[in-house]
Amino acid sequence: SVVVVGSFNVDHVWRCESLPAPGATIAGRYSTGPGGKGFNQAVAACRAGADTSFLCALGDDAGGATARDLAAQDGFALIAEASSEPTGTAGIYVDARGRNTIVIGPGANAALSTDFVQQQQALLTGAKVVLVQLESPVQTIEAALAVAREAGVTTVLNTAPADAPSTIGLLKLADVITPNETEFAALLGRHVGERVDANDVAALDGASLHALCRKLVGNGTVVVTLGSVGVFVSHADEHLRGDTQPYYRVGAEQVQAIDTTGAGDAFNGALVASLAQVPDAPFARHVRFANQFAGRSTEKEGAAAAMPRFTPADAEVK
Ligand code: ADP
Repeated sequence: SVVVVGSFNVDHVWRCESLPAPGATIAGRYSTGPGGKGFNQAVAACRAGADTSFLCALGDDAGGATARDLAAQDGFALIAEASSEPTGTAGIYVDARGRNTIVIGPGANAALSTDFVQQQQALLTGAKVVLVQLESPVQTIEAALAVAREAGVTTVLNTAPADAPSTIGLLKLADVITPNETEFAALLGRHVGERVDANDVAALDGASLHALCRKLVGNGTVVVTLGSVGVFVSHADEHLRGDTQPYYRVGAEQVQAIDTTGAGDAFNGALVASLAQVPDAPFARHVRFANQFAGRSTEKEGAAAAMPRFTPADAEVK
């Protein structure tokens, strides 16, 4: 089974001609839906076939009730710490060119406590894989990783968002980290003093990327997601996780991408779902499955709503 620890937000989206300037009032087409990296990743893991539990914090309000309803509809267990803060929210403006401006109200997500996570010790230590991101307090994420690690559970850290507070202490607690290009560049700058432009990451040769990954983590595997280019994987020599190569690329799926929001979340959820369901498979197979799943998530509008439904066993048939 998979346990995801992380955030839930109610997303409020306004699609406008152009983004509002300070002082301006404009009209836009409104829609609302679930969001938060943790929730999106739990939906993806569940739809990719894993027995999934999601640990989060919710307010006593309509947003919290929505989270519970949606989890029940999708078929995963949502275990929430009751918070006196409001449920997390995001206000998102998207212009005609697809650019966005976002304000997050972390609310209950910022109050997800170490105590609550430690109370879920049996769930965490009984899992095959534990997946966390950085939209929750660092100490809470650290506790979840430490509890899982102690029990020999595979730990995956999605180092998102890029501007999250210091994560250096978390990196060594993760078996696998999954930055995108922006997050990879931010981690390199912050933790090992390597100045790399996020736009240049995909163009670097394999040996250089591998060397940068090795500077960042000791024994851990690094999976850098490269958007429409695909994925780069780097293992420590002594931990190839069933692969034959210490580093390699996987090309992206050929899809008609219409909305890449949540592609990273799709990738992370599918990766852990595969790790949990076919744990003895070579790591490259998990990556190929996740890459396929994430590619297909871009063919529909939205994040959680756009997650496809297929499992590693389905993918194998093709
Ligand atoms: P994020 O959403 O965190 O920015 P990426 O943009 O790197 O993450 O996307 C995550 C993964 O989703 C990629 O590694 C790839 O597997 C898949 N993906 C994203 N965009 C596309 C695309 N245009 N075509 C095919 N696959 C894509």
